[in-house]
Amino acid sequence: MSHEDMQDATDTEPLIAAENPPHMDENDVPMFHLWTIDVEDDGKSMITTMVVRARLLGFSASHVPRHKDHEGEWAPRRFQCPACRWIDVALYEVHKDDPYRRTNPGARYIAHTVGRSDIPGERDFIRVMPATNATMAIEALNTPQHGSVHLTVPARTALSQASGYDEQIAKAFSNRRVA
Ligand SMILES: [Zn+2]
Repeated sequence: MSHEDMQDATDTEPLIAAENPPHMDENDVPMFHLWTIDVEDDGKSMITTMVVRARLLGFSASHVPRHKDHEGEWAPRRFQCPACRWIDVALYEVHKDDPYRRTNPGARYIAHTVGRSDIPGERDFIRVMPATNATMAIEALNTPQHGSVHLTVPARTALSQASGYDEQIAKAFSNRRVA
């Protein structure tokens, strides 16, 4: 174990309380913390949480405070109003010693998306996508639309942010953009 590794493993890591959405200070290089991440319990439509030692590389939400022009307080079905319904996108790098890497073999990254709704009676849709490398992490954030795939605006923003902290993501993201 190198000196750096030792340092890494013994640093005090304050427990970050569950935050929705996670706060990211753009002026700080992200550090490893214990994050509480929302998880959807498959099949039961129940939201639970998991704790993972990770650093948040990028976060973006498509939420806007101002409603689009829609009748009534809440947007009707299929009407897109990002004050009513929006997406949160987070990209985490899992700490090399976190058990999550063993239970999800080689999962270096977690791509985490939440389709959120403020509308009474609607619920959030959570996806937790482990990825062994940067290319997979970017693919996990692809959204199918009209028969092809694309990255949503918050996904692109989160990946641009992450590119500033993670060379693998930077490389894979810029390769994707020229392709
Ligand atoms: Zn609205």
